[in-house]
Amino acid sequence: MLRKKIIAGNWKMNKTATETKVLVPEIKDRLGKFDQAEVVICPPFTALQAAQEALGAHSDIALGAQNLHQAAGGAYTGEISAAMLRDLFCRFVILGHSERRQYCAETDALVNEKARVALKASLRPIICVGETLAEREAGHMAQVVTRQTQGSCAGFAEDDWNNVVIAYEPVWAIGTGKTATPAQAQEVHALIRATVSGFAGKTVADKLRIQYGGSVKPDNAQELLNQPDIDGALVGGASLDAASFVAIIKNACA
Ligand code: PEP
Repeated sequence: MLRKKIIAGNWKMNKTATETKVLVPEIKDRLGKFDQAEVVICPPFTALQAAQEALGAHSDIALGAQNLHQAAGGAYTGEISAAMLRDLFCRFVILGHSERRQYCAETDALVNEKARVALKASLRPIICVGETLAEREAGHMAQVVTRQTQGSCAGFAEDDWNNVVIAYEPVWAIGTGKTATPAQAQEVHALIRATVSGFAGKTVADKLRIQYGGSVKPDNAQELLNQPDIDGALVGGASLDAASFVAIIKNACA
């Protein structure tokens, strides 16, 4: 099954709107015309408009957000709705990142609710799953990743799955410089695909794109992305530098 690779940059709480006006044109220039992979950048909410303006109309680079609130609107001080993101031309939204699971107590049920809201609003969710070091060392990796995948992706209609991306991000590899080996990552990606096949069917699972995230760099991108079940990368730190982000994209497709 040929699945188009998808490389997304998660800027986290980095880059002001002013800095975004510098970084986005640099990414665009270095990338040039590129259709070998889908490329997504996910700046913070406050920089989405600046990023959109810098990308311009009909850009090959898509815009994504890092979270949304599950309600359509109302008295939720400080929150952002799916419609607000669509209005800023977002096409993707990262959901259930381990930092949100850890610091904002996001559960699989909440991630699932947000994902359904995103899909209804024509936003494509990038749903993050991944075990902590303690869970891996205790031998619970498979149980945790299976539970997160089933819980976060429950009840999607078959058509919705065309717009879903799952990111496997072992928590112990995020921002630590410790990358999962290609074999370790492949093992979990295959497990996620088999899990999805189990509850959503083989056709859905075969088409599903599963990204790896966790200290992806230009020098490890190619080997990771050459694994049969790794269909892309969710890149944190290295996406804040145009040269390294573009090198990851190009190496991932080499
Ligand atoms: C992330 O936060 O999604 C991530 C993968 O971060 P890093 O690439 O910095 O490990």
